Amino acid sequence: MATVKFEAQEIELTEGESVLECLERSGHPIPNSCRSGVCHSCLMRATAGELPPAAQKGLKDSHRAQGYFLSCCCYPDTDLSAVRVDADSMRIGARVLRKESLNERVLRVVLEANEPLDYFPGQFVNFARADGLVRSFSLASVPALDDGLEFHVALVPGGKMSGWLHHEAVPGDDLELMGPLGNCFYVPGNPEQPLFLLGTGTGLAPLYAIARDALHQGHTGAIHLFHGALVAADRYLVEALSALAQDHANFGYHPCVRDEAGADWVQGEVDAHALELVPNLKGWKVYLCGNPTLVRNVQRKAFLAGASMQDIYADAFLPAGG
Ligand SMILES: Cc1cc2nc3c(=O)[nH]c(=O)nc-3n(C[C@H](O)[C@H](O)[C@H](O)COP(=O)(O)OP(=O)(O)OC[C@H]3O[C@@H](n4cnc5c(N)ncnc54)[C@H](O)[C@@H]3O)c2cc1C
Repeated sequence: MATVKFEAQEIELTEGESVLECLERSGHPIPNSCRSGVCHSCLMRATAGELPPAAQKGLKDSHRAQGYFLSCCCYPDTDLSAVRVDADSMRIGARVLRKESLNERVLRVVLEANEPLDYFPGQFVNFARADGLVRSFSLASVPALDDGLEFHVALVPGGKMSGWLHHEAVPGDDLELMGPLGNCFYVPGNPEQPLFLLGTGTGLAPLYAIARDALHQGHTGAIHLFHGALVAADRYLVEALSALAQDHANFGYHPCVRDEAGADWVQGEVDAHALELVPNLKGWKVYLCGNPTLVRNVQRKAFLAGASMQDIYADAFLPAGG
């Protein structure tokens, strides 16, 4: 079995164990969240040994060249020496600027970063609390339109980060941010291409950012945003999105509520409604965010409806732990 050399210890990997699991077993807590290679919070650096390609999937070329790897996806065949990444160089400090309730379960959190964060609206960042807790949140703000970094945080029952943000964090509290990450954002250069945006819950955060960014950059093609909720009270930003639809003839806002009938929304499953309205996605760019099961299902359906794989962008909000 291969070994992992870490902080003066040499630890043998057990069958099927990732480097992250091996280090945790040996009493070395490594920041982590999704444990699926998405959030990048378990990033480490190899100083010797050979990295399996899967451990570097999705990393920037410059990071790959320096030996950075995702410890949750690293199953080495040969001995590896690894170090923690220099946290300071990968993180920027930020503080809570304001909090505002968007509905009973969703909080708008606006942060101010200590230095400008170079991001595309819709990407996500990792929030790292001083005690090491790390969770990913999508950017709902557009740098050209908003001051501060905006996030929409759903309260998860018993949730450590969402509970803290909802109930305890106050303006002035410090956090560290890692990122930005992800490729769910508007890419200019094809202003007539129609855009299909679909999400549930706080999956709206990146979609809201992408739609506003596209409109701000003069997108002329149709933009349809479908937001799914279980009950009417789970919808949010209804007024802002309705106003956006009034101001822009090419923007359509389609709220769907599964379990309640009402005059202001369509009752039913959001994906069924969306694909009824847009049955042929050939030539469309598709953005899917939020519940992982829904994202996976609609990814498949969008492909079957004609969207090309390279035009489907998805951010599944995987819970911590994979
Ligand atoms: C790329 C990415 C982007 C994300 N963007 C956002 C965003 O913009 N807004 C947002 O609100 N969240 C987002 N998330 C989810 C977020 O990172 C956290 O997982 C979420 O806030 C819960 O963390 P927590 O610490 O409060 O709960 P935890 O303490 O991690 O979990 C508490 C319990 O709840 C369960 N649980 C966790 N999440 C859920 C859930 N969604 N539904 C049901 N049970 C759950 C856990 O399994 C655990 O049993 C994103 C995730 C990813 C990977």
